[in-house]
Amino acid sequence: MKINKNYQNIEETYLFSEIAERVRKYMAENHGASLIKMGIGDVTRPLSKSAVDALIKAAEEMGTAEGFHGYGPEQGYEFLRDEIADYYQRTSGVKIFSDEIFVSDGAKSDLGNILDIFDVDNVVAVTDPVYPVYVDTNVMAGRKIVKLSATAENGFLPMPDPDLQADIIYLCSPNNPTGAAYDKDRLQQWVDFANAHGSVILYDAAYESFISDPDIPRTIFAIEGARSCAIEFCSLSKTAGFTGTRCGYTIVPGGLVRDGIQLRKMWLRRQTTKFNGVSYPVQRAAAAVLKDQGLAEIMENVAYYKENARIMAETFSELKWPFTGGKNSPYLWVKCPNEMRSWAFFDDLLVRANVICTPGSGFGDCGEGYVRFTSFNTRDNTIEAMKRIREIYG
Ligand code: PLP
Repeated sequence: MKINKNYQNIEETYLFSEIAERVRKYMAENHGASLIKMGIGDVTRPLSKSAVDALIKAAEEMGTAEGFHGYGPEQGYEFLRDEIADYYQRTSGVKIFSDEIFVSDGAKSDLGNILDIFDVDNVVAVTDPVYPVYVDTNVMAGRKIVKLSATAENGFLPMPDPDLQADIIYLCSPNNPTGAAYDKDRLQQWVDFANAHGSVILYDAAYESFISDPDIPRTIFAIEGARSCAIEFCSLSKTAGFTGTRCGYTIVPGGLVRDGIQLRKMWLRRQTTKFNGVSYPVQRAAAAVLKDQGLAEIMENVAYYKENARIMAETFSELKWPFTGGKNSPYLWVKCPNEMRSWAFFDDLLVRANVICTPGSGFGDCGEGYVRFTSFNTRDNTIEAMKRIREIYG
C-alpha cells in the first residue's frame, strides 16, 4: 500500500491557529479586554425569513407520505436550477441552460472536486495572495503551480503575460483576500487568452452579490467567448448567509470542449458517480432566497455588510492607509502603516486597539506587508473598531 505522498508537500497553514493562539495568549494576560474580530470570513447575520420559512415548510413536507423526498437528482432539483438560471438572466442578462447548472453543498467542494476531470500534467496558475483551496487541492493531486503576483502596481489584478504557460487558471473576482475585482476589459483579456491557448478558467464568483459597479461583471459568462473557456463556481454562503446551511452551484457551459469532449458531460459523470445531491429542504431554501422577495431580504444583509465596508474604507482613507476592496467586496486589503510586516501590525492592532485582522502574509508571499479586514460584523462593532483605530493611529 502506498499513500498519496503529495499530501506531504502541502504547506501547513498556521494562519488561523496562530491567530487564535496569539489572541488566547493576549486574553490570558489581559482579562476582560473587549476584542473586535475583523478577521473572520464568516457571515454574522442570521438567515432571512424566506429561507427559514422554506426550510420549515420543506421539513414538514418531508414528514408526510406525499411530500417525502428521497434521493434527488444529482445535478439538483429542477425548481432550483430554473431559479438559478432566472437569477443570471435578471442580474446579468446572461442565458444559462438548466443542464449547465450543477447544485452543490458549496463552492469549496466543487472547486476541489472539479480537478477530477483534468489530467495531473496540467499546469495551474493562481494569483498570489490566494484563497488557499486552489493551491492545496492541486498540491494534493501533484500538479505544477505557477503564481501570478497581485500587487499594488497591477491593482491586485494580475493579467495574462504572453509568455504565461497555464492550462488551468484560477480567477477569483471579487477577490478573497484582496477585495479587488476584474472589470469587463480585463476579464475579456483573460477570456481571449484562455481561448487562444486552450486553457480553462476556473472562475470563483463567491462574492458576486457584493458588486455594485456596473463595469464589474457578476459572472464571467457576461464576457464574450467565456462559454468556450470558463467554469464558474458560485455560493450562497456570503450572498444569503448559507455558510452553515451549505448550498452553491457550478456552471459548466455546453460550449466548453477540450480534447473533443464536453467538460459538462465529464462533470455530470463525475457528480453522478461521487455525489448524491444536496438535501431537499436546503434546495427549497436556496430557491426561496433567489425569488423576488427572498432576494430583496438577502440583499438587505449584503447592503448592511457593504455599509460596514464603507465605514471602514472611510477610516482607512482618512488615515491615508492605502487599501483596495470594500466597494464591490466584503474584504478590505490594507497596507500596514510604517512599513510594518503583516504579523507585526496584527500584534500592534491586537494589543493597542483590541482589534483582530488577518495577516496578509498568510495568503501568500505577495501578501506580506498587508492585512485583511472583513465587513462581516455588527454595525456597532465596526464603528467602535474604526473609532479605536482612528484614535490610536490618527
Ligand atoms: N471561494 C472563496 C473565494 C471563498 O472565500 C469561500 C469561502 O470563504 C469559498 C469559495 C467557499 O464557499 P462555500 O462556503 O460555498 O464552500
